[in-house]
Amino acid sequence: MNKISAALKPALNFVLPPRCVSCGVILGGENSFCVDCWSKMYFVAPPFCASCGLPLPFETDNTQQCGECLTNPPRHDGIKAVAAYCDISRQVILKLKHGGKIGLAELVARQLIRHLPENSSDCLAVPVPLHWSRLWARSFNQSALIAKSLAEMSSVSFAPDLLRRVRRTDLLRGKSQKERRKEVARAFEVSGKWEQRVSGRNILLIDDVYTTGATSDACVKCLKAAGAATVTIYCWARVLPDENIDHSRLETSLA
Ligand SMILES: [Zn+2]
Ligand SMILES: [Zn+2]
Repeated sequence: MNKISAALKPALNFVLPPRCVSCGVILGGENSFCVDCWSKMYFVAPPFCASCGLPLPFETDNTQQCGECLTNPPRHDGIKAVAAYCDISRQVILKLKHGGKIGLAELVARQLIRHLPENSSDCLAVPVPLHWSRLWARSFNQSALIAKSLAEMSSVSFAPDLLRRVRRTDLLRGKSQKERRKEVARAFEVSGKWEQRVSGRNILLIDDVYTTGATSDACVKCLKAAGAATVTIYCWARVLPDENIDHSRLETSLA
């Protein structure tokens, strides 16, 4: 924060007090949730699928995989998600993306830190890139903001320009899994200056929401082709099938 905005902050807070990201109730600090909304969010917790981190509805010895991973072994090396995608967790992304609340990237990064590997100093935080035309329209990439915050709070290195989106893709919403995969195929490439430097590296691929994995899979394919040792996906929210939700842990149903 520069000096001017720091000086203006108390005055702005007086005019616009910080509010809960989801319900809008007035809070003491910025970029957070009220206790009520926080307690209604479903945080992803073990037992997990050993490959993709999907919460499993039965106890495991940390070697079991979900049905999907058994049938189609994933290209990635794990998915670390903070919360299930629901009305409340969605607000973070909507406000970060369209509401200009870029401070929310810190909230997400703070939650992702506990999912980092023990020695993360050799890891590169690589955001899923936007096409330049979308970046131009929005002026920032929400995944890059999250990756930058994560790097600032840990020993991970920020590599915002490692992946490039070379093809603008249609919105994936409403498309089948097959159509999504076709749409994002060959949409990404490793930028020239990184081509010789990805080999053997551990990549943390940062995305805001993990839906079907079509976009991140296209990124993983590209990073592995360039020689990345591991690519682990880090995201704020993950769409979870109902059977992977432990309803006894849920105070209210996910909308
Ligand atoms: Zn609230
Ligand atoms: Zn799995």
